[in-house]
Amino acid sequence: MPFLLNRRITHCQFFARAFVMYNAHMRQTQLFTATRREAPKDEVAKNAQLLIRAGYIDKLAAGVYTYLPLGLRVLRNIEHVIRKEMNAMGGQEVLMPSFHPKELWEKTGRWSTMDDLYKVTDSSGREVALGPTHEEVVVPLLQQFLSSYRDLPTYVYQFQNKFRMELRAKSGILRGREFIMKDFYSFHRDESDLAEYYEKMKIAYARVFDAVGIGERTYLTYASGGSFAKYSHEFQMLTDVGEDVIAICDHCRVAINKEIKADQPNCPECGNTELHEEKAIEVGNIFELRTKFSSAFGLTVKDEKGESVPVQMGCYGIGLGRLMGSIVEAYADEKGIVWPASVAPFRFHLVNLAPDDARVAGIADALDAALAAMGNEVLHDDRMGVSPGEKFNDSDLIGLPFRIVVSRKTEGEKEQLDMIAFEVKERATGVVRTMTLAELCGSFSQ
Ligand code: ATP
Ligand code: MG
Repeated sequence: MPFLLNRRITHCQFFARAFVMYNAHMRQTQLFTATRREAPKDEVAKNAQLLIRAGYIDKLAAGVYTYLPLGLRVLRNIEHVIRKEMNAMGGQEVLMPSFHPKELWEKTGRWSTMDDLYKVTDSSGREVALGPTHEEVVVPLLQQFLSSYRDLPTYVYQFQNKFRMELRAKSGILRGREFIMKDFYSFHRDESDLAEYYEKMKIAYARVFDAVGIGERTYLTYASGGSFAKYSHEFQMLTDVGEDVIAICDHCRVAINKEIKADQPNCPECGNTELHEEKAIEVGNIFELRTKFSSAFGLTVKDEKGESVPVQMGCYGIGLGRLMGSIVEAYADEKGIVWPASVAPFRFHLVNLAPDDARVAGIADALDAALAAMGNEVLHDDRMGVSPGEKFNDSDLIGLPFRIVVSRKTEGEKEQLDMIAFEVKERATGVVRTMTLAELCGSFSQ
């Protein structure tokens, strides 16, 4: 299955996500966060070091992070991309709780078998699990509403915090003990309906990873299917910090997780035996659960003949923080983060090198307002008493797609904003161009 390659993020697409509930522009003097020279000493992962230094996240404890204003904007942009695709797949969004009664987890046997389950006892002695995933909640939930095959298929999803007792929480936001996951559950009348839907979900997932900018380095990967299906499928992004090894078939552009390579030594699609191994991180995972959980809870529907049949299920996960951290790992350079346009917290970094000069500040404010009025998201560095060198370093660290410099060298007056030539640097390539406002709002290619 080919990924959609080289999709260009146009101005229009960028504008289309502006319904996200954030200000189109923000002044750096108003941000309560700041960049830092050093990351915490105990933070060894590149993604977290950069995200902390640039002011996107804060570390509370190992595997536990706060998303700061800049970081939350990235997270929301990722969420927006995913939500769009999941809605297109017919998903109905819900929000399920994190507190799960022990009885539900005993029903599936996972209270005692899941090693990374957080178990909490309250002062009355009642035991609950902090949800690491939601089959134990979604199945009894849907059981109340599904009675006939006519109620199927049904699709439910959420964005929600998960809790897992990860022993090795050393990978920054790639592996949290508390982390946000999009988890989607599908309910079908029979195996063939599930299988058909599962294939469509593979394509929806590919669209998500394309849209957030990692499609070219992400592989549909055959992985262990658990007790019911032959395979599950992971979406693995190539990176040296990845904990998985995948074997890639270049003909089919698919991979096999090395964990199953003993059983599956060649490409499952074309039989090719010349696979090459790469390190990768799992950014998404889709599973045919079949009747594993519906049987545990007795979730059945009546078929045409009035007979009870177990409901077939699939589940489909993506970790949002892991995806954000993976994007950082994939594109950062020695100067800092490099965001793909579709997830960047702002499109433009407007850097005013002389905010104490009234003429220059007037131009910067007018440009900021004009860009924002046209739906562009702008971070405006209006800080006084910060040297140009520091401002440029911060800008490279923060990693917005385009840096616009306004300085004493910028010629013109704010009244003729349209005539002014601005120096614009593309973060990803380092290419510097001189552009007018009209050109800035036009189709500056990615
Ligand atoms: P891993 O093998 O990397 O621990 P997993 O297979 O246990 O992950 P799933 O249960 O398949 O994870 O969860 C679905 C998705 O949630 C994963 O594909 C990943 O994107 C994300 N995810 C899982 N664990 C974490 C975590 N500790 N921190 C952040 N994201 C996670
Ligand atoms: Mg997985």
